[in-house]
Amino acid sequence: EKTCEIISVGTELLLGQIDDTNATWLSEKMATLGLNVYHRQTIGDNRKRLYEAFKLAQSRSDLVIVTGGLGPTDDDLTRDAACDLFGCSLETDLDTMKKIEDFYQKREMKMTENNRKQALSFSGATVFQNEVGMAPGLCYRHEETVWYFLPGVPTEMKWLVNHRLIPDLYARDFLQYQLYSRELNFQGIGESTIESELIDLIREQSNPTIAPLAGDGHVTIRLTAKSVSKEEADQLLDRLQEQILSRVSNYYVGDRPNTLERQLIGKLRDKQLTFSACESITGGLFASQIVSESGASDVFRGAVVSYTNEVKQHVVNIPKEILERFGAVSEECARSMAERSRVLMGSDLSISFTGVAGNEPVDGHSNGTVFIAVSSKEGPTLCEKLNLTGKRNEIRQQATKQGLKFFLN
Ligand code: ATP
Ligand code: MG
Repeated sequence: EKTCEIISVGTELLLGQIDDTNATWLSEKMATLGLNVYHRQTIGDNRKRLYEAFKLAQSRSDLVIVTGGLGPTDDDLTRDAACDLFGCSLETDLDTMKKIEDFYQKREMKMTENNRKQALSFSGATVFQNEVGMAPGLCYRHEETVWYFLPGVPTEMKWLVNHRLIPDLYARDFLQYQLYSRELNFQGIGESTIESELIDLIREQSNPTIAPLAGDGHVTIRLTAKSVSKEEADQLLDRLQEQILSRVSNYYVGDRPNTLERQLIGKLRDKQLTFSACESITGGLFASQIVSESGASDVFRGAVVSYTNEVKQHVVNIPKEILERFGAVSEECARSMAERSRVLMGSDLSISFTGVAGNEPVDGHSNGTVFIAVSSKEGPTLCEKLNLTGKRNEIRQQATKQGLKFFLN
């Protein structure tokens, strides 16, 4: 882990004339980036004391951020002290000089010799231009330590940190990335269509990345940003999400797929109908999936898990004759379970599940035979027979899914 030191330059800070808000802001920023700020120094505008402070920082920190003392006046000595330590010489940065000249020319003002000082850099330094003011930042690597010299004016300092210093730290592998993902779900559009709509974004992707995945009746696009902070990741993800939705918003269903459960709840809510369930083979799986959706209580009244024949007969009131004559795994039993449970729970509709999900055939039905019935207040009870394959829990899950589909149609 990298250690960071912050040095604030300015006699006015030592005299208590201004608060060192730069150091506070930088400390917080560096901490959120996962860097250890172990030292802070405040030094007046004095070349010798600045040199000593810099030397100390060089000896103990991986990263040093200096603010202030880069301005045009004679008491701004940060550069000179840095040169004393690094053994380099001052030189004029031509881009900065041009920027300053343009500034004065536009305003028809005369440049002074002091103004030229703001364009001074030193040999081997990288100059970071600042888009919110005149003062550039300087970056310099001395031995193993990376130095940043930033203007004292808070708005300019912050801009340079956010737009130049942090990307530079990434480039130097000083910061630990984390991955942040977000999913966008679409319905009514195929994976290949959505890919062709977004092809340029997919080709250009770097950070965040874009991964389309075809799901069960929907397409999910997973966006993944690499960042050191959640805030920054959210900004990156928001920007890309906006771009994507500007093209395919008609098919967007939200950050979660529009599951069958959600569709069923939405459909019945629109029709102002309630439903319930009577489950044997699924053992409560259907109810569990329904209630995992928020808003289920608007339409779902409850479920009975009638696993044994005794419970089917005495709790759900399935006639004994049906159980004896057709058995629990039968169309007749499924119909009766749906009808009785609907009345029992006072709902407009009810769905039932009964079948075999073990290894032994039951009532002459082989493994994977499932009957699903839907009873409604109006209209006849509908029943469907499924021949599923798979292990016990796979059959239970498939039966639940088929039940949802059956119910939806
Ligand atoms: P400029 O090039 O604009 O003159 P500079 O790098 O020379 O900037 P200073 O002259 O030291 O910086 O400070 C400019 C102004 O920035 C100060 O008048 C002060 O208001 C503010 N400032 C400087 N240092 C700090 C600090 N540590 N915390 C808060 N504000 C500061
Ligand atoms: Mg100044």
